[in-house]
Amino acid sequence: MIKIVLSISFMFFLTGCLGPSVDRSGSVIVIDAGHGGHDTGATEAGKREKDLVLQITQKLYKEFRSEGYRVYMTRGNDCFLKLGQRTRIADKKDAQVFISVHANAISDRSRFNDVEGVETYYPDFTYQTQTTPL
Ligand SMILES: [Zn+2]
Repeated sequence: MIKIVLSISFMFFLTGCLGPSVDRSGSVIVIDAGHGGHDTGATEAGKREKDLVLQITQKLYKEFRSEGYRVYMTRGNDCFLKLGQRTRIADKKDAQVFISVHANAISDRSRFNDVEGVETYYPDFTYQTQTTPL
């Protein structure tokens, strides 16, 4: 038995796209279902991460579209994409938001109570190469 922890990476390229504006048709969201194809991600009892995250992203896709956002998915079926291919899709669509969905797993039962919740990664916009200390 393993415990699965949902991991969603939000990459906000611009602010304001999730604000209270009524017309969201100018806000582009790209949703990435992690893994796919030969890359199953975490597996347990016949369940595969790639299938679970595809189902989650399809629901997110419908939900965001119903809210008026322009939404794209990096994959809509069981195919493998390299990380660079996934981010290029977001670049080509000029996405303000990139959401990559994963379902991480842990098999160490002694750590089940230590691991829970949502893991979120986001870019550090405060990083500037001109001021990087040596
Ligand atoms: Zn994953």
